[in-house]
Amino acid sequence: MEIISKVANLKQRLKSAAKQNKIGFVPTMGFLHQGHASLIHEAQSNNSLVVLSIFVNPTQFNQSSDYQSYPKKIEKDFIVAKSLGVDYVFIPDETEIYPNGNNIIIHETQQTQMMEGRFRPNHFDGVLTVLLKLFNIIKPNYVYMGEKDYQQLEVVRTMVSEFFLDIEVIQCPTVRCDRGVALSSRNSRLTPNQYNLAIEFASSLKKAKTNQEIHQKLGDLGLKVDYIEQHGSRRYGAVWLDQVRLIDNVLLE
Ligand code: AMP
Repeated sequence: MEIISKVANLKQRLKSAAKQNKIGFVPTMGFLHQGHASLIHEAQSNNSLVVLSIFVNPTQFNQSSDYQSYPKKIEKDFIVAKSLGVDYVFIPDETEIYPNGNNIIIHETQQTQMMEGRFRPNHFDGVLTVLLKLFNIIKPNYVYMGEKDYQQLEVVRTMVSEFFLDIEVIQCPTVRCDRGVALSSRNSRLTPNQYNLAIEFASSLKKAKTNQEIHQKLGDLGLKVDYIEQHGSRRYGAVWLDQVRLIDNVLLE
């Protein structure tokens, strides 16, 4: 496994490799868990070369406190990535990705008007901008993204299509703990008591009959609810447990 921090170096390595390999790309913000591992496994099953990026992208955080407190454990991530058989780990710093500041952004105007886009202004601008940059650096054949961030998955698919990118976005199922909570790097910041509330959040998204019922129940338990919404056969939710914000979505039967 090679760890690369410079855009030019990674481009150079991948240029010759791309001739003989299919490149699968897994973009992450690190603090790797089994959800990320499932994306890496999926990438390995379809590609001869897998690139993992670890970059806590400042432009997608609408609150600097959230950015500052985002969990990081880079040395452990390297060990995990190596044990999973990742070929390249790309760990750029901010100046490498935004050498001239954030002067050009990708802005989507329809799908981002609701849910995450509504509660996290400019969040998707940051996500799309960094992903377009990473796609142009890595030029993957396939990119692997989790259903855990379903709205993100759909917005990225739209960008790939609208900008005629030769990339296929592969959707990977949400990995959950035994008690139903979707794995997330942010879960590491939950107290045991808050983790129990996260279990309630996940189970009520799946089991409750109406969105209103979930709002009421989670509100009664002391959670701040940003939204509970259903679109098609999927129910989406975002809640705050003190300073930690969790999102999840489930397919309803
Ligand atoms: P993150 O590091 O949180 O930005 O996530 C990087 C990628 O991993 C995104 O495509 C996420 O949707 C995906 N991901 C995060 N958590 C999970 C999970 N529990 N199951 C499956 N994919 C996940």
